[in-house]
Amino acid sequence: MIHVDNGQCGLCSHFGETHVAGTQLNQIRENHEASETLVDECGHPKHASLHLKVTPISGCDGFEAAKMSSRLGPVAARR
Ligand code: SF4
Repeated sequence: MIHVDNGQCGLCSHFGETHVAGTQLNQIRENHEASETLVDECGHPKHASLHLKVTPISGCDGFEAAKMSSRLGPVAARR
């Protein structure tokens, strides 16, 4: 496993955006750890037509922090 820092693709809302986020994407966002072999499509509007594939530790200036899909997140944040 590799560590994923803020600003890197694994924590970006566009990473894997072209499909429903599965357990793997949610775990990366929760644990900031990803498989060394994972590659997924970047859904950023400027890259999508090129079908850019990136790793969780890639990055670009189009980074937008992914929101957690857990329903507990917003509830916990309001407390
Ligand atoms: S390439 Fe840029 S926009 Fe695409 S997932 Fe990575 S950080 Fe996000």
